[in-house]
Amino acid sequence: MRKRLLCALLAAALVMSAGCSRYTASREFSLFAMDTLVNVTLYTGEPEAASKEQAIMSGAVSSIEKALSVTREDSDISRVNRKSGQQGTTVDSGTIEVLSRALELCQVTDGALDITAYPAVKAWGFTQEEHRVPSPTELEALAAKIDYSAVKLEEDTVTLPEGMEIDLGAVAKGYAGDWLARDARGNGITSALLDLGQSTIVAVGSKPGGSPWRIGVVDPARPENYFAVVELEDMAMGTSGGYQRYFEQDGVTYWHILDPDTAAPARSGLSSVTVVSPSAFLCDGLSTALFVMGLEKGTAFWRDHPELEFEAIFVTEDGEIYRTAGLEGRFSLAEGYTDREVTVLE
Ligand code: ADP
Ligand code: MG
Repeated sequence: MRKRLLCALLAAALVMSAGCSRYTASREFSLFAMDTLVNVTLYTGEPEAASKEQAIMSGAVSSIEKALSVTREDSDISRVNRKSGQQGTTVDSGTIEVLSRALELCQVTDGALDITAYPAVKAWGFTQEEHRVPSPTELEALAAKIDYSAVKLEEDTVTLPEGMEIDLGAVAKGYAGDWLARDARGNGITSALLDLGQSTIVAVGSKPGGSPWRIGVVDPARPENYFAVVELEDMAMGTSGGYQRYFEQDGVTYWHILDPDTAAPARSGLSSVTVVSPSAFLCDGLSTALFVMGLEKGTAFWRDHPELEFEAIFVTEDGEIYRTAGLEGRFSLAEGYTDREVTVLE
């Protein structure tokens, strides 16, 4: 319920931000996939182009879900997971592409992102929303089985060792966002906003009037508010935060982003990480990875990887705000937050 409410709030905020221009949306529609509501706002002078785009996008989102969903029994990923410890599984070439890009990101982030965390995600009950706290012995056994480097990709075949399962939950929305944006651009759409649920957004072009899209960044301490606004033009943004999916037990909060080293919720001192980059895939995957790394390692990672062309905003559990220097001119504090200090990372 909570997730739905947040989606609705975000959608409303986006529409408000788009509504500032004197143009009206040619087409707004929602697609439900990947456990989330995908809200699309397209601006085009031609209604036919919008209808065509809507049909293509809804088909694409369902085929991406059919390939990558971890909860659908007939998806490529579920078929691969059922065969762990057995022979390899043949999958679609698109699935291989996502898997190989995801594995590259696991490697670059030195395993902060690890797509084989799935058995641990399940053990905490995050898949079925039947939450429980696994024992320390159980966590140790689960952590021992998390190792992306053991996933074998050979042409169109994926092989997993015994006891291992994969989950592309940390990057699937980003992948879908890039796909939809590329398609929209390819079909001549120069102004659109793709909101893949509460955490991943892709801006195609600018607002119809030519000014950048203005997207709110959720305050992890009060998720109904935005603490900052980022201006985006042909750019994606993704946020991972402990407030997005969690449960409480005996006064402790447990969230859905796990540290692959411990198989337990990542406690790095951060409460959210937002990544801005031309690639939604990178935004999605890196926001999860940087959340696991924490502020210090995350900042070092940003400095060490200029080739990835991303910028980041970190919010600590104490409510401190940090942002990277490359967001200069695109980042501002939202109304009600203008007295907050922002540390610029150079
Ligand atoms: P959301 O899906 O809410 O946008 P994220 O993009 O941060 O959030 O992805 C979190 C999801 O990815 C979790 O629900 C889980 O399925 C999976 N996951 C959790 N921790 C990791 C991790 N360290 N590496 C890869 N996937 C993870
Ligand atoms: Mg992610």
